[in-house]
Amino acid sequence: MIIPAYIGRFAPSPTGPLHKGSLVAAMASYLDAKAHNGTWLVRIEDIDEARTVSGAADAILNDLAVLGMQWDGEVVLQSQRKALYQDAFDKLGTHAYPCGCSRKEIADSRVGIASDGAAVYPGTCRNGLAPGKTPRAYRLRVPDGESACIGFEDRWVGRVTQRLDREVGDFVLKRADGFWAYQLAVVVDDADQGVTHVVRGADLLDSTARQIYLQHLLGLPTPQYMHVPVVTNAAGEKLSKQTGALALDLSRPVDELMAAAQFLQLPVSRPNSIDDFWTQATALWRLAHP
Ligand code: GLU
Repeated sequence: MIIPAYIGRFAPSPTGPLHKGSLVAAMASYLDAKAHNGTWLVRIEDIDEARTVSGAADAILNDLAVLGMQWDGEVVLQSQRKALYQDAFDKLGTHAYPCGCSRKEIADSRVGIASDGAAVYPGTCRNGLAPGKTPRAYRLRVPDGESACIGFEDRWVGRVTQRLDREVGDFVLKRADGFWAYQLAVVVDDADQGVTHVVRGADLLDSTARQIYLQHLLGLPTPQYMHVPVVTNAAGEKLSKQTGALALDLSRPVDELMAAAQFLQLPVSRPNSIDDFWTQATALWRLAHP
């Protein structure tokens, strides 16, 4: 058996500079790559152009460099890869279908609430657009019954299973505003970049079954997944700009690295340099997550 080389990635959305929460995700993916003598890619997920903040991608890359996290190869931008997403969408054929429902109509249908808080799609346009509707978005038809059950072994969380039909419903591939959905773009990019190990925040655990199902349909390999805990504020919300994310103080990079390492349960001793921090943290990670 040929064991594929390790390729990992950090895939931030450029909505602002790195903060205490995104540093944890970046650090976990970086350490896992280093501990496996692997490649660490950075991909800027600017596919949702409505949320992209100008200058944020450069700020993130600068922050990573200041923190001593050197990525391998070219940084890719999703906004420049739309032809790949279109190709994958075309391959999905009749698994994809146009949907004319508004958010309100879906919410009013009350089929169920997915674990990420979104309403489960009731399937209104599954067998054709309802009369008088114009296509707004494109959705992926998820299977019914037992084949809707997707399971995987998460390296942090353990066994995860999700029933796509009951817990998610037919999900969006192309949004009403014309942008490709994250779920499609991430699957295409991870496969195109040869990513073997995805290490990211647990806020994306719930998306993973959708991504694995898309990989199956597109004949793409499934990487290994590890979802690390996310930093939350006092109210238990994920740290983000909206919830008042704490900015990093990059005049004290070692302190910021130490705080993130502590969150990841790595008992790093006070380092005498950024390099020393990474040497210690990599060795500790390797022991904890072989
Ligand atoms: N772009 C996503 C985010 O910043 C991460 C996607 C991923 O790691 O799969 O939350």
